[in-house]
Amino acid sequence: MFQALAIKYRPKTFSELIGQDSISQTLSLALDTGRLGHAYLFSGLRGSGKTSSARIFAKSLNCDKGPTSTPCGECENCRAAASGRHLDIIEMDAASSRKIDDIRDLIEQTRYAPAMGRYKIFIIDEVHMLTKESYNALLKTLEEPPQYVKFILATTDVFNIPPTILSRTQHFRFKKIPQKVVVAHLETILSKENIEGETQALEMIARSGNGSLRDALTLLDQAIIYSKGHLNATLVAQMLGILDPEILQRFFDAMLRGERGEVFAILEMLEGYECEMVLEEMGLYLKDVLKDPNAPLSLPLLDRFFRVLTDSTQLLFLNANNSFVLTLTALKMLEAFKIASLDEQIAKLENELFSGSVPVAPSVALPAPAAPLPPAVAESAASDSAGGTFARELFAELVQKIYARSFELGQCFETHITFVSFENNELCWRSSASGACKERLRLAYSFIRMCVEDVYGVGTKIVPQKVPAGAESAPKPADSMPAPTMSPAPDSAPTDSVAPLAPAPAKPEPALSAPAPAAPQPMPETAMPPVPADSAPLAQSADSAPESIAPTAPPAAAPTHDAQQSADSAPALDSAPAPKPSATPTFEELKEEFPLLGKVSELLGIKHIDVSDVKQ
Ligand SMILES: [Zn+2]
Repeated sequence: MFQALAIKYRPKTFSELIGQDSISQTLSLALDTGRLGHAYLFSGLRGSGKTSSARIFAKSLNCDKGPTSTPCGECENCRAAASGRHLDIIEMDAASSRKIDDIRDLIEQTRYAPAMGRYKIFIIDEVHMLTKESYNALLKTLEEPPQYVKFILATTDVFNIPPTILSRTQHFRFKKIPQKVVVAHLETILSKENIEGETQALEMIARSGNGSLRDALTLLDQAIIYSKGHLNATLVAQMLGILDPEILQRFFDAMLRGERGEVFAILEMLEGYECEMVLEEMGLYLKDVLKDPNAPLSLPLLDRFFRVLTDSTQLLFLNANNSFVLTLTALKMLEAFKIASLDEQIAKLENELFSGSVPVAPSVALPAPAAPLPPAVAESAASDSAGGTFARELFAELVQKIYARSFELGQCFETHITFVSFENNELCWRSSASGACKERLRLAYSFIRMCVEDVYGVGTKIVPQKVPAGAESAPKPADSMPAPTMSPAPDSAPTDSVAPLAPAPAKPEPALSAPAPAAPQPMPETAMPPVPADSAPLAQSADSAPESIAPTAPPAAAPTHDAQQSADSAPALDSAPAPKPSATPTFEELKEEFPLLGKVSELLGIKHIDVSDVKQ
């Protein structure tokens, strides 16, 4: 007589129980040590071995040689239990007998001692189906049953069991049976049945069983009939309505060869299947590829494929059209091959960028220089060709940075340091600094280096280039300007420090703006036309500042000197390169910074001075 495999190979002892090692071990120990509870709850997936365990446990309790974890199978109790006709092992299906009357009957039965065995055992299956009243009726008996009564409750839905029941039972959670354990069990059964079967076919069956051994065995029964005793992957896939791995193999091969036509032909075939299952099978196929060390698909590519599959699965959840999702998946995967070459493109571009040979637009807008480049830089920009325009723009930014730290230092740097090139992380510049300026630059070298790294990137090397002997004597345009007339003796002021401030030659133009009302005042200090004598560091080099104050000591001399200075400064306004706006404070700011200036201007009744005039 034909018997379903699930019944024929139902485990009869704990050692035959598949995939629930910890549970069978605990129950065996309880039986062997005599530490038996009065109520057990077995929860877990259908077909994971709950009912089988309950029956084995019941048989073990009642075996003549027990309670033991290894029932003899010979005694009357064992034989009666195995054939399901033991008087003291009462199985009840709570799905069909869920009412309070059924439970009352059950409680009534607990009053009578066992007829043939040691214990009276009640196995209540699907216990979560009981009504609330039934649970309440059962509670008392479940908590304190007679000595000879044991309860074994089984459920697939433990979350629907009231806590009052849970707290009165020993709870065992049956887990999903791992796929490879199921496959191994199926192989054992096939060998016992003398049937051939491909491992791949058994894997498909196990996967479809979804962790349930009973489901897998039922499918195996079906597959044996369908394949007429020779289980292979294609037939099993056909029977299960799942994708033949062969098709997927062809699909990914075509993709690898870039044959779009073939890819879409297979895609049409795939549309005959359930889209979710196709995506799942693709994922499983790629997982196998992932483990294969000789796989033709690279890891980044596989990573992209998995992302594509994840996106597609999400699309499906949004009720997207199945065929559309599949087509999109295929197209995205085909595109993924192209993205691989894009990676190389990026690497190539990065190489070129770091070697400095490609001018690239800055990703962040650089602050544009507020004023036109001073002549020195403009000249060098015209004459130099190496290094690229972007690197040169960065140099202008560097100059701004140094100006921001100290105006004099910025001036020295801008005047004497000329950009030559920037290549291979090396900034090459030409220096023509000498005297005080050279010293100033030398002292601030670490700061300048910091600025260079800030602008050109960490690790940038500075390669100074000495100006050739001939070029050194030929002054730059800025240097060739006449020295400012702020000091009576032009020679005494270091030309390099003040040169750019007053590049235009003096014109005797008596344009007196701010200084005019100050002139007749008897107070020597206030008569100074460069009112910001205090603010000198902002406007001119420290070297020249004292000199500009010195000659004003005799009040008598002031007017002429003022006139002279104003005359010098007036034309400069028109012809000199505009001063850095950031370095020009307003009169109000100056007053704030130099309180004395505020007091004096108050005394003199000066409301406002055009500071830019004064500065010149
Ligand atoms: Zn026995």
